Amino acid sequence: MAYSRNRLLTSPTFSDYPFTLGIASGEPVHDGTSARVVLWTRLAPDPLNGGGMPPNDVEVRWEMATDENFTNVVQSGTEIAPAMEAHSVHVAPYGLEPARYYWYRFKVGSEISPVGRTKTAPETGAPLNSMSFAFVSCSDFQEGYFPVYRAIAEEDLDVVFHLGDFIYEYGPDPESTRVSETPAPTDLETYRSTYAEYLLDPDLQAARAMHPWEVIPDDHETYNNFEGAPEDEAQAAAAALAYYMPLRPSASPHAAEGANLLLYRDVNYGDLAHFNMLDTRQYRGEPPDPETEGSPETDDAAITNDMIGQEQEAWLFENLASSGARWNVIGNQIGMFDYTAGSEGDLMGWDDHGYARDRIARFLDDYRPSNPVVITGDLHCSWVSDLKAYYPDENSATVGTEFIGTSITSGLGESYANEYKEHREDNPHVKFFDERTGGYVRVDLTPEEWRTEMKLADTIEDRESPVRTFASFVVEDGQPGAKRA
Ligand code: FE
Ligand code: CA
Repeated sequence: MAYSRNRLLTSPTFSDYPFTLGIASGEPVHDGTSARVVLWTRLAPDPLNGGGMPPNDVEVRWEMATDENFTNVVQSGTEIAPAMEAHSVHVAPYGLEPARYYWYRFKVGSEISPVGRTKTAPETGAPLNSMSFAFVSCSDFQEGYFPVYRAIAEEDLDVVFHLGDFIYEYGPDPESTRVSETPAPTDLETYRSTYAEYLLDPDLQAARAMHPWEVIPDDHETYNNFEGAPEDEAQAAAAALAYYMPLRPSASPHAAEGANLLLYRDVNYGDLAHFNMLDTRQYRGEPPDPETEGSPETDDAAITNDMIGQEQEAWLFENLASSGARWNVIGNQIGMFDYTAGSEGDLMGWDDHGYARDRIARFLDDYRPSNPVVITGDLHCSWVSDLKAYYPDENSATVGTEFIGTSITSGLGESYANEYKEHREDNPHVKFFDERTGGYVRVDLTPEEWRTEMKLADTIEDRESPVRTFASFVVEDGQPGAKRA
């Protein structure tokens, strides 16, 4: 798709400060030759009213330095903020040094952005003794403030994973903690306003300014329970176009065929960790029909009842089989562990697509990649579970570990909490459950140990709320399954 043939503005003036939505960086990778990272901003002097920009493309300058005062600028350039992308900017500098901090900023006309800090990934395969990251999910603006994002901004981390539900597509709810000023999004303009409202939040801006992020959407970036082929393609396309994230240019909807964003990807951190970021939404098939469900070996439905699609599944298995990393992490949107024993329902996660989960379980059992750990969002509560080779037999091998982090703000609801608690005993592979919301998970990784700290804000009614660790777990190298620390 070509950029609009409007006159490029190289020195525009603005009705107001254009960097209202802050800056961000993402997708730190090492491509074997050098480190890369994506820098992001969006020009929006009037963010909640269409952006307030002229209909022209605009030239934006950018700089990267090795110090926060920009005395040693190591890279700089110009990039177009296209009107058709609502004047968002994606810069993908390469040739960076691995495993180091950089500071970056943007300039347009006489305006200058806030300063962001990012950190590049270490050299792929090189010895790495430690890394730290946080993972988060489910940040509903209306349900509360973001003390979690503020706490993350204050942490010392290599990277932040957001595993989905970055926005919620709900309209203003007068009963909520902070009422949205934007309508329920249905088209491009309203999705853009929703993102703008979130990105105006100072604590979210601080967390994005301090660390590189790895993001993957779940359903609410489009609409509740969005799965695979959208019922409303126009709405899904609008949601995809408005997904303002620091993603590599090839993940842009403008580079994609139709509305699909190519989002599944992998990231190496030295020889310590290999992260496989899954896309469990865009390729999902119909859930199996319990009436006709047969065995995974004989039933054709075993192939079509898909979760991530055959291509992505083959990609995942190839990555796991060939990985030389000590820890093989799967960044995942929805619960992968089984929770159907004794329960009428399920977690609306991989439980719904048992064959797809069984294939992963069997793969992990057959190939035994080094230390598989799944990190997950979506459920608005905390879980720790063993991943089993074969769930109907609790004595089958434990082949991996899953940590599910609670929401940043989104509620759980009493009936879900009660249902989950009720079936704990029937699912002995599940090691931990906590129903509280408003938190995140920190992980500290060494070759010997994975350490998880689960954290909660005292309250999400107060943006200044303290955030504290409430449970810690370790996974030891070579021993799948978590232990209380
Ligand atoms: Fe959610
Ligand atoms: Ca979700």
